[in-house]
Amino acid sequence: MKEITELDILAIGAHRDDCDIMAGGTIIKMNDMGYKVGILDLTQGEMGTRGNAEIREKEAFCSACCMGVVHRENLSLPDTRVEVTFENRIKMIEVIRRLKPKVILAPYWDQKHPDHVHTAELVKEAVFYSGLKKYDVGEGPHRPRKILYYLPFSYGITPSFFMDISEQFERKLAAIKCFYSQFVDIQADLHLTPYLDGILEKVEYYNGYFGRAVKVKYAEGFVSTEPILLDSIMDMKVHTF
Ligand SMILES: [Zn+2]
Repeated sequence: MKEITELDILAIGAHRDDCDIMAGGTIIKMNDMGYKVGILDLTQGEMGTRGNAEIREKEAFCSACCMGVVHRENLSLPDTRVEVTFENRIKMIEVIRRLKPKVILAPYWDQKHPDHVHTAELVKEAVFYSGLKKYDVGEGPHRPRKILYYLPFSYGITPSFFMDISEQFERKLAAIKCFYSQFVDIQADLHLTPYLDGILEKVEYYNGYFGRAVKVKYAEGFVSTEPILLDSIMDMKVHTF
């Protein structure tokens, strides 16, 4: 991965496999379309029940290569301590101003893992303050025009829109398999990390479930806090019958 100056899309995740699992198909698809996509992981995974920071760094790099992203970096916040603080906001603004993404992907704000919840809030604050001229951090002001929230695997959240990832789905699975420390010999730790049980099957199930909602094989769902504006009602892809 070579040094990059300006991104189209920056996906931000609390942990090293968050973006890959929850938005990997969209990341691959946008890359296929020629957009420059990068990933910012906030923690190194040193507190994870399985694997360690070095192993997880290699895994994250492997997955990034599979997905074709041009840049992946780590903010090195203490694992399990993603907190909405002035210092962490400054660290994130420095990255946003340096990479200049137009669109940010962030975890949906209402979910179980506190690190994910805090990441969503931290992203929102950093994106806002990054646009302020008199905020003296890193390079000059830059405000991404859009934050889109990728969804956890849970019920009850209605996506604002879906991305068809049918053609990218196999590559998404291949990327997730890079995180082998999270899958191998998992039974002994399963009581501590129940969410890792059958993770590939879960990805297949959720992306298939979302896909069925929009009549394609696999899809990822996103929430936009702003309404979606169309130019025409003639090009809507999901037909009523
Ligand atoms: Zn996570």
